[in-house]
Amino acid sequence: MRLLIVEDERRLAASLAGGLAAEGFAVEVVHDGREGLRRALDREYDLIILDIMLPGMNGYRVCAEVRATGDHTPILMLTAKDGEYDEAEGLDTGADDYLTKPFSYVVLLARVRALLRRHARGGGAPAIVLGDLTVDPASKRALRGDVEVELTAKEFAVLEHLAINAGQVVSKAQIMENVWDFAYDGDPNIVEVYVSALRRKLDAPFGRRSIITVRGAGYRLATDGGAVHGGAAAGGRG
Ligand code: CA
Repeated sequence: MRLLIVEDERRLAASLAGGLAAEGFAVEVVHDGREGLRRALDREYDLIILDIMLPGMNGYRVCAEVRATGDHTPILMLTAKDGEYDEAEGLDTGADDYLTKPFSYVVLLARVRALLRRHARGGGAPAIVLGDLTVDPASKRALRGDVEVELTAKEFAVLEHLAINAGQVVSKAQIMENVWDFAYDGDPNIVEVYVSALRRKLDAPFGRRSIITVRGAGYRLATDGGAVHGGAAAGGRG
């Protein structure tokens, strides 16, 4: 397992690298955002630990640029203090998880392992086909027919969880637990934002209604991918 640490606090970077190397990881360290991006694009890593405040280029930019190339390497972001990390921005740039400094090494190691496990699971899982909707955990791609639908990492994660449970009702809390596996203690209604985005991208342009709201319970992804039969819309309301 090869890890890249992009962290300008040299003592912290060295101590993380030492600890992770002792766990058997191959660890590379850079102290500059631009160099981190270059490394991330040049080489294959299993996971990237990325500080946000960096010389050269900040961690958000690095993360966004990595994702823009279609690279889905798990990214764990480090933030100096509460409030510095803008969650919406971090999620939008495609980070998988984050940790607020100071953190304990044990917590970091647990997060690293969880991300690697999640990624490995995705890597081996077959594509889920629901009517003309294909959800592919390995490539993190969603397709309507042959058309690839561009989703953010978080949107895809929400869709993937619904797809794994297609035909069953999934509560917002279950989605939160499975998709936001960092210590997110915010409003579960954030799930609605992602469901709206998925409907806007996956359903509306294709005349489908795949994600059905089950009032007071959660959401259900239709096993037929939301095909609308005849004149009447199938499934529940909005
Ligand atoms: Ca820093």
